[in-house]
Amino acid sequence: RRLTKHFPVHQLGPTRGRQVVHAVEDISLALPEATVTAVVGESGSGKSTLARLLTQLITPTSGELLLDGQPVGSSAKARRAYTRMVHLVLQDPFSSLNSVHSVRYHLERPLKLHRRAGRDDLDSRTRQLLERVALSPAERFIDSFPHELSGGQRQRVAIARGLAVEPRVLLADEPVSMLDVSIRLGVLNLLDELRERERLAILYVTHDIASARYLADTAVVMYAGQVVESGPATQITDAPAHPYTQLLLSAAPDPARTDPPVLRGRGSPPSLVNPPSGCRFHPRCPFAMAVCATTAPPALPVATEQVAACWLHSTERTAAESAPLKPG
Ligand code: SF4
Ligand code: MG
Repeated sequence: RRLTKHFPVHQLGPTRGRQVVHAVEDISLALPEATVTAVVGESGSGKSTLARLLTQLITPTSGELLLDGQPVGSSAKARRAYTRMVHLVLQDPFSSLNSVHSVRYHLERPLKLHRRAGRDDLDSRTRQLLERVALSPAERFIDSFPHELSGGQRQRVAIARGLAVEPRVLLADEPVSMLDVSIRLGVLNLLDELRERERLAILYVTHDIASARYLADTAVVMYAGQVVESGPATQITDAPAHPYTQLLLSAAPDPARTDPPVLRGRGSPPSLVNPPSGCRFHPRCPFAMAVCATTAPPALPVATEQVAACWLHSTERTAAESAPLKPG
């Protein structure tokens, strides 16, 4: 609820120590069980910082985390309980597994540490984990080493390792962006199965709005550390209300491409050290008006459950405020 994260800038020079990166600004988000929520944005939009705030890997500058509607306490015990509930799956399945250890080792460790698995049930519980991520028969994978597996199989092992502690929330930060296009769909489908079968709340962080539409129930579009639009994923992709969402959709990547899409034509995301005044998107927005340069737009309802932070959807603009913004 109302999460904000400002980082001090670590750089030399006369401004040292005085500048901050406005990475995440006042974001509220619900992750209901058995639901996939996508956070969509370009690199540098703050989406990975948001995911890390939700793990407690970093502490918010302000705002708070709630579990089942209750604020997560600050005692070591409460923080540990929360950490077990929430698991982060990283982008790179190559670096997240240790190449000198087998699949068995990676999965037994959390079972021993967190689930008190004893010697007699360790093997069967490890095999069950592999089955849960469709690495089956488990026999084929359990004594393999990471280099013997494909990228998709490694990402499945990384997800299985997360499931070992029986989390209720899975945070997946670009879980398929480093995988071959041909196996991405399989991993996305696995996330969807886990959502349904294990009733996990899943946060899917991506630069790819097309995959968000495919997987997510709800989509949240971030720009320069802020949420610019949120709502049902199909609604947002069928009828985007915010000019930035429209731009993202127009640049939706060719499924055969592996690199993040580049939004052509109208500049690049702003520095988060000195974000633009008013609407942070105004220097790139084809519809920018006078009011956009001075005043941040409030989140306005545009359809059932769909909200956009854009002055175009306000009925209370004066004519002067609505004048097209002069370039420059
Ligand atoms: Fe464009 Fe203004 Fe809407 Fe921002 S508030 S997206 S600048 S029209
Ligand atoms: Mg990132």
